[in-house]
Amino acid sequence: MNTKTFASAADLDVKQVSFDQLSDHAYAYTAEGDPNTGIIVGDDAVMVIDTQATPVMAEDVIRRIREVTDKPIKYVTLSHYHAVRVLGASAYKAEGCEHIIASQDTYDLIVERGEQDKASEIGRFPRLFQSVESVPDGMTWPTITFTGKMTLWLGRLEVQILQLGRGHTKGDTVVWLPQDKVLFSGDLVEFDATPYAGDAYFQDWPRTLDAIAALKPEKLVPGRGAALQNAAEVQAGLAGTRGFISDLWAEVKAGADGKKDLRKVYEAAFAKLQPKYGHWVIFNHCMPFDVTRAYDEASDHADPRIWTAERDREMWLELEG
Ligand SMILES: [Zn+2]
Repeated sequence: MNTKTFASAADLDVKQVSFDQLSDHAYAYTAEGDPNTGIIVGDDAVMVIDTQATPVMAEDVIRRIREVTDKPIKYVTLSHYHAVRVLGASAYKAEGCEHIIASQDTYDLIVERGEQDKASEIGRFPRLFQSVESVPDGMTWPTITFTGKMTLWLGRLEVQILQLGRGHTKGDTVVWLPQDKVLFSGDLVEFDATPYAGDAYFQDWPRTLDAIAALKPEKLVPGRGAALQNAAEVQAGLAGTRGFISDLWAEVKAGADGKKDLRKVYEAAFAKLQPKYGHWVIFNHCMPFDVTRAYDEASDHADPRIWTAERDREMWLELEG
């Protein structure tokens, strides 16, 4: 196997941003496979779902929002704890936003591993942290936490904030507009982009996708990739994500059960999945992390171990060195 550059350290491609209206209230800020942001414009206020990685990047989201509404941005909802989703939060604070909503499980993960995750993510993918010096010291702290379900009314618009199960992380949260049938999935669903599963629960993830499908969304904003604009596209996004997670888990579980070592399991999984999924963005980046986590889950780690910048490099050397 050729030695690959660590994670996405060499990815310098500039991406094209799209800002699509999905319904009377929902918009998607997407960028060809880079992390997405969702926007909900209610009667009296705006909610942003995932902040972008830095305040400078979030300012571009705010600029787009201001092209469609002058209502105040009152709420930020975090789909999960990853740095690339949360570290832009201070830009919304500067706009007067006081409320950052997250699941209690996400809050707990920020307490437990937020600092390590921040250092790890910046090292893996520096391009995604444009103007990283604009991130204030410390963590982004949610101001409202919930467990299971909370409902927010933006005037007459019902906004459901739901934990439908674990998958991409323990704290995964989706935002659902029942009137518009639009769902914001965070990284539970990706489209033409490789699911990152380094902090995942492989055995739970397909069930959580079932729970998303049961809502019958007609439009869906994935964590990465283009907004899905009709029921058939939503189905394709759900099926693609499920296929990748299930295929990877089956391959790694079989190897771990057969007491093969991690590097052998990794090489077999890479060879098996590459023909089907290798064209998705960040495939080479995600695979070592995803296989390592699946191998852990199949052996003796019910919960994901904390990634540090140092552990990232050690793992990469072990599997790709
Ligand atoms: Zn994530």
